[in-house]
Amino acid sequence: MSNIAFIGLGNMGSGMCANLAKAGHQVRAFDLNPQSVENAVEAGALAATSIAQCVSDAEYVITMLPAGKHVHAVYFDDDGVLAHTDNGALLIDCSTIAVDEARSAGTQALQKQFRSLDAPVSGGVAAANAGTLTFMVGGESADFQRATPILEAMGKNVFHAGPSGNGQAAKTANNMLLGISMIATSEAFNLAEKLGLDAETFFNISSKASGQCWSMTSYCPAPGPVPTSPANNDYEPGFAVAMMLKDLRLAQDAATGAKAAIPFGEQAERLYAQLDEQGLAHKDFSVVMRHLQES
Ligand code: NAD
Repeated sequence: MSNIAFIGLGNMGSGMCANLAKAGHQVRAFDLNPQSVENAVEAGALAATSIAQCVSDAEYVITMLPAGKHVHAVYFDDDGVLAHTDNGALLIDCSTIAVDEARSAGTQALQKQFRSLDAPVSGGVAAANAGTLTFMVGGESADFQRATPILEAMGKNVFHAGPSGNGQAAKTANNMLLGISMIATSEAFNLAEKLGLDAETFFNISSKASGQCWSMTSYCPAPGPVPTSPANNDYEPGFAVAMMLKDLRLAQDAATGAKAAIPFGEQAERLYAQLDEQGLAHKDFSVVMRHLQES
């Protein structure tokens, strides 16, 4: 069993940290919010009151933070991880951040003789709590091998996507596809309804025809066909509009840098920005269905 430092105990990190403790690791937990640290202690972790205390004897340092600027601050500030950790520790950042930010964090860490991985996740809060996340990992193969048993305590699928930053590249491209496919699925249900098909009838046909996709069969944006969908719970998240907008903006920035054409990705970003402006930031991203019905 390993000594693990866990920094960032929010919606996602709290469940991930609890699963590491449940698997028998010694986990020391830190968050700016003391209540989150208390909750982690109840779930079997040890409390830390600073990053320095959290990482002092860690073999692995896992971060689950809102955005790239937080990751860079937590890693590189004077009171941050690199200043207080033995450089034999492996740094694993599970936050969703820009590909460039992940690559520059990897490069800066390596300059200080630290090994690191970007390991963003797919699956949301329910999967974080259940230990069924999918990890997409960027970094050296040897570091990936070393991290795999730790990641497997928090997830059921662990993929090596290639060198540093490639985990974030996979996550960005995947979530752009999800945003586009959710809008496309919602458009199809809206059109079918306006043409006289009820949602159940259209679902039964299209889920067995060429329109079938995850946004339809696992997360249907029209109320009715998939009982667990947020559509049946007034579009409570789930995966919030604000989160999808964040990911689509990351995709847009990455595409601009890489000169990749993403015409539907751009339109998806504009539509989610509109939902955000309408005060729907905290609704599930499948609320785009209701927006189309009311347009
Ligand atoms: P969150 O805001 O609930 O949690 C982030 C935590 O980081 C908070 O508890 C905050 O106090 C803490 N924090 C911020 N700065 C800190 C610092 N300097 N030191 C210590 N702690 C600090 O966010 P979340 O929903 O848990 O998401 C975390 C990451 O996972 C994000 O990058 C998000 O894009 C990604 N993600 C989220 C989901 C989801 O469904 N929520 C799904 C996949 C990926």
